[in-house]
Amino acid sequence: MLVVGGGEIARRKIELVMRAGATIEIVAPEIITELAEPRENLTPRHESYGKHHLTDQALVIAATNDEGVNAQVSRDAKARGIPVNVVDAPALSNVIFPAIIDRDPMVVSVGSAAKSPIMTRHIRQLIEQLLPDGLTRVARFLGDRRDQLKQAYPDIEIRRRRTEAFMRSPGYRLAEEGRETDAEQYLYAEEAVVGGEVYLVGAGPGNPDLLTLRALQLMQRASVVLYDNLVSPAVLDRVRRDARMEFVGKRSGYKSTSQEDINDLLVRLALEGERVLRLKGGDPFIFGRGGEEITALIHHEVPFEVVPGITAASGCAAYAGIPLTHRDLSQSVRFVTGHPKDGKVNLPWHEFLHEQETLVFYMGLGGLSTICRQLISHGRRPETPVAIISKGTTPEQQVLKGTLETMPGLVARTQIQSPTLIIVGDVIRFADASPE
Ligand code: SAH
Repeated sequence: MLVVGGGEIARRKIELVMRAGATIEIVAPEIITELAEPRENLTPRHESYGKHHLTDQALVIAATNDEGVNAQVSRDAKARGIPVNVVDAPALSNVIFPAIIDRDPMVVSVGSAAKSPIMTRHIRQLIEQLLPDGLTRVARFLGDRRDQLKQAYPDIEIRRRRTEAFMRSPGYRLAEEGRETDAEQYLYAEEAVVGGEVYLVGAGPGNPDLLTLRALQLMQRASVVLYDNLVSPAVLDRVRRDARMEFVGKRSGYKSTSQEDINDLLVRLALEGERVLRLKGGDPFIFGRGGEEITALIHHEVPFEVVPGITAASGCAAYAGIPLTHRDLSQSVRFVTGHPKDGKVNLPWHEFLHEQETLVFYMGLGGLSTICRQLISHGRRPETPVAIISKGTTPEQQVLKGTLETMPGLVARTQIQSPTLIIVGDVIRFADASPE
């Protein structure tokens, strides 16, 4: 094919078509260095465009900055019946290039018939987020087995049903992860497997923009969602509309669902064939009891995937402007649960005495005065900075700044809403906070 023009715009088009395997001739009096040298499938000609360049071309792109030349190329190509694209000039083109989402061998293309490149880009981005990288592996996995599948299931109707059943089975995710041998068992199983699977997904600290792409993808794939208090409404809004939602957290006036009941529910739903999304605040493996849930799943041989989330410490620190570590002030950070057991906060206080370590207490508000008192009585300076972050990362985030000495009094005088996180250490100096 022929590309008329040797500038930046031409380069972008050329990259795209070369990936599709095109053999290209470039014609332009001046050609940017990246394209100036001949290489495989690319022949630059440092000369002005003339009709003769069209001979034997299957496709023409005009990408010069001279409208007259572009229009001339368009006329000449059309007269010879050669498909032509003039960049950013749909009226002169009879071929347009849609935006593509490339998950080789799968390709999705988005076009607006040249009406709105902005909308095209917008939709491309939306789709891009939803298509897992592993799509490539699933498509290759199925592609490599087409002949085998034909032999295993000669009847086309049965073959289609079995492949569709595979797409809904845990085998799909295994193929996505590249675990082909495991995935194959679902493709050739004696009977289509009905068993479902569980996604243990970290939903982050509340702001939906902090969800991972993987979380979003699985939120679109789940058939049932079990969620608790920490998962914000804004996050729940992103779950597939027709998924069944079940609240399994604590809510005043209701008996809270025990961890054992949640474990049982996960197992039961999965064995019934559901794709169960267990959505948890923050990260499932940081004070999230994710470990207990996977133990139950492993015990019952339920397939599962764990997706990390942004934990409250990272989210709150970032949104409050507090670096958790700092070359000069803090060389380590410790995540601690401040949840009082039997009303008492029992913690190894003598381990929390390093001036140069940031301490982060999860679930600590109830035990705040104990925490501050114990740290001081074990030897931390009373003026050690402390921050309390409430509803971190959300539009209602509040940051209170004080010291080990002042914080309990400060909190008693302030309306502060859960969830809250306590951070202790000199790094608090950086926080953007309401004044003490
Ligand atoms: N798995 C979660 C933690 C669950 S424990 C994670 O990785 O973040 C629950 C505690 O997390 C809360 O009591 C609070 O201390 C903290 N937390 C969670 N989200 C928070 C938020 N948006 N702002 C402040 N603290 C939060």
